[in-house]
Amino acid sequence: MTDRYAVIGNPIAHSKSPEIHAMFARATGQDLVYTRIHAELDQFRATVESFQRGGGVGLNVTVPFKREAFDLAATRSVRATLAGAVNTLTWRGDHWAGDTTDGVGLIRDLEINLERPLAGARVLLLGAGGAARGVIGALLESGASMVAITNRTHRAAIEIAEAHAAVGSLTVLPFAEIGNREFDVVINATSAGLQGESLPLPAHIFSTGVLAYDMVYGKPTPFLGLAKASGARTSDGLGMLVEQAAEAFYIWRGLRPATAPVVAYLRDALRGQ
Ligand code: NDP
Repeated sequence: MTDRYAVIGNPIAHSKSPEIHAMFARATGQDLVYTRIHAELDQFRATVESFQRGGGVGLNVTVPFKREAFDLAATRSVRATLAGAVNTLTWRGDHWAGDTTDGVGLIRDLEINLERPLAGARVLLLGAGGAARGVIGALLESGASMVAITNRTHRAAIEIAEAHAAVGSLTVLPFAEIGNREFDVVINATSAGLQGESLPLPAHIFSTGVLAYDMVYGKPTPFLGLAKASGARTSDGLGMLVEQAAEAFYIWRGLRPATAPVVAYLRDALRGQ
């Protein structure tokens, strides 16, 4: 029987995951179907249970259900436990196992696709929402010489630092203090760019040699605009999107699909929009 997978969220119509997984399945000769599921905000668990009864064996979970997926999972990976969020659910015959692949996705995009090794690098992460939580453990384990975190709501950044104290030391900086430091990689994990909003960042942190990375993809953000105008190298988060999907595919199918052709295809499609 063909295995059934899906991405579940609300809203979900915009998700590129079905296209990505269909390309992975074609490239690796896997027999599977992957669809989108819109769950009502109070119906996450019931929707997942119904999917499983219908033969579903794996789910990607997106906004706003990553925390609920964490609660639903009977077993969780170490990285999901640290993040307090699950974006990949796998049916293990009698229970859902939870994992999070955003951290691996980001690190692969930075280190392999963008050829920016993190060992010894000074990294600044902007944001303390679900996306930041999902990647901070991987950043702390990357060999970076310093990882700092800044968030509009300062308390949320402190909570992330406290939650990860056993993994590594996180420097919590208010926006006003960013200008006193130097960074090699600046990662925007806020949703500010989605609404075209700017962050209060001094232009001088984006000098030549700095990589500025925005997790938002497919649209020019004020963050990337400022970084580019100040001489930094820039990237959006399309590669991370594809890499986190590839990690989920690996968890489910035990195969690592090539990601570069999928990134190139989606990049072309976004340009044509
Ligand atoms: P959340 O809603 O959980 O968090 C939003 C974060 O953005 C918070 O830290 C919030 O700060 C901050 N923020 C929002 N607006 C502003 C603003 N105007 N000024 C300063 N800070 C602001 O969202 P997620 O963490 O889930 O997602 C963040 C972004 O990452 C989204 O744009 C999403 O599309 C992208 N993403 C991309 C992925 C990829 O694979 N490329 C994967 C996952 C996410 P505060 O705490 O003060 O409210």
